[in-house]
Amino acid sequence: MNDIDIIKSYYSGDELKEALKKYDEGIPAAYIIGEWEFFGDSYYVNENCLIPRCDTERVVEKVLMNLKDSDSIADICTGSGCIAISVLKRKPNSTGIALDISSKAIDLAKKNADRNGVQNRLEFICADIFTNPLGDRKFNVIVSNPPYIKSSVMETLDDYVKKEPSIALDGGCDGMDFYRHIISSCKNNLEANGSFIFEIGFDQENDIKLLAKEYNFDCEITKDYSGNPRVALLKQCISLEEI
Ligand code: GLN
Repeated sequence: MNDIDIIKSYYSGDELKEALKKYDEGIPAAYIIGEWEFFGDSYYVNENCLIPRCDTERVVEKVLMNLKDSDSIADICTGSGCIAISVLKRKPNSTGIALDISSKAIDLAKKNADRNGVQNRLEFICADIFTNPLGDRKFNVIVSNPPYIKSSVMETLDDYVKKEPSIALDGGCDGMDFYRHIISSCKNNLEANGSFIFEIGFDQENDIKLLAKEYNFDCEITKDYSGNPRVALLKQCISLEEI
């Protein structure tokens, strides 16, 4: 279904007219109806979070492949919470933390955890990842769909995308600020054999591979549904002494 069909499935009469007017004015369908589907589940969304994308479902698939049922995850820049929640929903004995700098996003993610029945296994932290809020906690997978758009590209984004929070999109000069910080400062938060799993921009395959190498991680890239590089799986290289 396209956006207009989705809006039509929610409203009729005057409400539909009002909703279509908002859409015409550039408000994304997801923000108009207040919920969106991701990985087969429904999530509350609003202008404080990125609208869950189907490309991000590839990230969830990658986490599920790399997580045992009782393992733990940290979802950095969780937004609506859709990554952490879809993972925990499918791994009934796993636990996790979901972190975001925006308290409004955390409020929304909490509601989504309740809505999807994982509230008892998901802890929320409202903090700036650049202040190293994970302390010495360890996780089997640290997953993130951080802001990764180059600052210079922000102005050229589609008008509907511009309605989404710029703090969820702007990844700094080369779009790599969050990956650089997460890899360098959270590598000690990974359990032995733990992995980082990142959503990346379609043009960031080489940059993330270089960064992974710098910190001694192997990097495997998975493509999205349109054939663009989209998911990076980083695993610590095993040194010869450990074999
Ligand atoms: N994939 C998003 C977009 O196309 C960007 C998401 C992000 O920066 N994390 O706009």
